[in-house]
Amino acid sequence: MNHIDESIDDIISIPLPVDERLVIKRHRLRREGTGSKRICVVTGIHGDELEGQYVCFELARRIRENQDNLQGIVDIYPAMNPFGIDSITRGIPAFDLDMNRIFPGNSEGDMNEYLASKIVEELQGADLVIDIHASNIFLTEMPQIRINELNADVLVPIAKKSNMDFIWVHGASTVLESTLAYALNSRGTNTLVVEMGVGMRITPEYGEQLTDGIFSLMSNLDIWNGEVKKVRDPIVAYDAGGDDVCYLNAPCSGVYMKEKCHGNLVKENEEIGRIINPLTGEILSGIKAPEAGLLFTVREYPIVEEGSLMGRILKKKVFEENA
Ligand SMILES: [Zn+2]
Repeated sequence: MNHIDESIDDIISIPLPVDERLVIKRHRLRREGTGSKRICVVTGIHGDELEGQYVCFELARRIRENQDNLQGIVDIYPAMNPFGIDSITRGIPAFDLDMNRIFPGNSEGDMNEYLASKIVEELQGADLVIDIHASNIFLTEMPQIRINELNADVLVPIAKKSNMDFIWVHGASTVLESTLAYALNSRGTNTLVVEMGVGMRITPEYGEQLTDGIFSLMSNLDIWNGEVKKVRDPIVAYDAGGDDVCYLNAPCSGVYMKEKCHGNLVKENEEIGRIINPLTGEILSGIKAPEAGLLFTVREYPIVEEGSLMGRILKKKVFEENA
């Protein structure tokens, strides 16, 4: 058996005004003579979302451990917004620009537009792209795949093999047309967007759950012929015309103590958490679910001000329970 070839390459390198370069690196693992099927794992478009970093590491580690099972190419891109990742900044530092709002880019445009166009060029044609995001520091998201309804027919069956807990098919909106996933899906390159965990942190169990899912997807594409774990049966939710989610906003300032975790199915009027006053020892407000559903986002950061988001509930009417 021939072993895998590994390389780390600069796939994009752009000179900066003063003696530096913006470089995007790719870790490629392939086994020679096993075909050219390719899966791309992308993360770090938002520099403050770190959950994907562990997935990149763990995926390479597990492939090396059973390398004879690799059939084709696995490309790993841990830092699509390298200055963002290096400085843990969400957007592109100095430009104050959300990188996921500039796709598909323009090869004749400014540096960032050029960068976006080169990224699309690099990834298009892959058999599958997985773009891993996390939430911000305030909120934790349960492991989920988000799919634009335009691509639902193709992507939902694939997403069901990804071992995530929840698939959310949302309505088409012009805001989302400038994302990497939109650019790739509209060019016929299947791209799944993963949203999981919390900003600026790594949740190892989510990383392992998604890595198991990536092996399942690879197996399905015949890129991996080793044993894979049985995947979870996700909840699949279809957008109900913008009325599918309840937002829980804080009625007052205080310290938020969550009682229900993300992933819990809650009943109408069930208590989800409390806002307390540590000085007086009072409960300032009991936060109740306005409707039954799936608590898929919860507040992680305990200090709230009036209006702060404390959670999101997907209304029961918009999902099927497949359990
Ligand atoms: Zn993101």
